[in-house]
Amino acid sequence: MRIAVFVKQVPDPSGAGRLDPATNLLVREGVEVVLDPGDAYGIEAALQLAEASQGEVVVISMGGERALEVVRKAMAMGAGSGLHVFDQRLGGSDALATARVLAAAVSRVAPDLVVAGTESTDGYTGTVPAAVAELLGWPSLTFAKHLELSGGTVRVQRQTPAGHDLVEADLPAVVTVTGGINEPRYPTLKGIMGAKSRPLEQLSIEDLGLDAAGLSPQQRVVAVAPAPQRQAGRVVEDDGSAARLIADYLAELKVI
Ligand SMILES: Cc1cc2nc3c(=O)[nH]c(=O)nc-3n(C[C@H](O)[C@H](O)[C@H](O)COP(=O)(O)OP(=O)(O)OC[C@H]3O[C@@H](n4cnc5c(N)ncnc54)[C@H](O)[C@@H]3O)c2cc1C
Repeated sequence: MRIAVFVKQVPDPSGAGRLDPATNLLVREGVEVVLDPGDAYGIEAALQLAEASQGEVVVISMGGERALEVVRKAMAMGAGSGLHVFDQRLGGSDALATARVLAAAVSRVAPDLVVAGTESTDGYTGTVPAAVAELLGWPSLTFAKHLELSGGTVRVQRQTPAGHDLVEADLPAVVTVTGGINEPRYPTLKGIMGAKSRPLEQLSIEDLGLDAAGLSPQQRVVAVAPAPQRQAGRVVEDDGSAARLIADYLAELKVI
């Protein structure tokens, strides 16, 4: 069983993100960057599945030069090999171009399963894994809060507002996992040392058999507006009708 896992390097979510006023895009240079916290769950899920099936995990990332650090981190956690797509012409890629590149990388790795985060902490489109699945013609299972393999099938508990749906598909498939599906392990010193001798490929657009002309961004961020200020809450004085007013308010919000 070969499992590919997507990892993305993002500006540290605990820092204050900054937008470039000329492009309306996140400033990624000269800022602290980390493994996207959501992808740590994907790595752990892939490692657990591989350990249970004596399989292997291949890490795939597209990103700038420093994205190599997150590939190495995933390998230090236990992944057997890594593939870093690094090409200066990919700077400014939108979600579709990213998906095209990642789909080509997946074709090269030829895994039985791809595991990814549900949405990144920076771009937040939540579209890349499903777009990769579509480009490959594979099923896409999203929001997995539990994931298991049985023979040639993947089965997930897909988180819903009411609980979960049980969804299954034939392999190969793409699955996105939610935060909390597991407790990601920390890289150990042994893992960090061991990762140094494992294969790690760095590939360009042409190495993947793609044409740079077909990867120019189709999206443009035309404006960015600050989120509206939070409104003051509604105060309910209890004259005996407070419970009813609160219940009505929650019903109005469709919470109950
Ligand atoms: C005009 C324009 C220019 C942009 N320029 C850049 C840029 O220069 N650099 C940049 O990073 N973003 C850029 N973006 C944002 C870009 O859309 C997304 O960051 C990126 O393409 C993936 O989308 P997302 O982060 O919303 O992924 P989501 O769909 O929210 O991510 C879900 C999961 O997919 C996987 N994934 C997503 N992206 C990658 C990746 N690159 N490698 C491996 N796994 C991945 C991860 O597992 C992630 O948890 C740009 C957007 C626009 C509109």
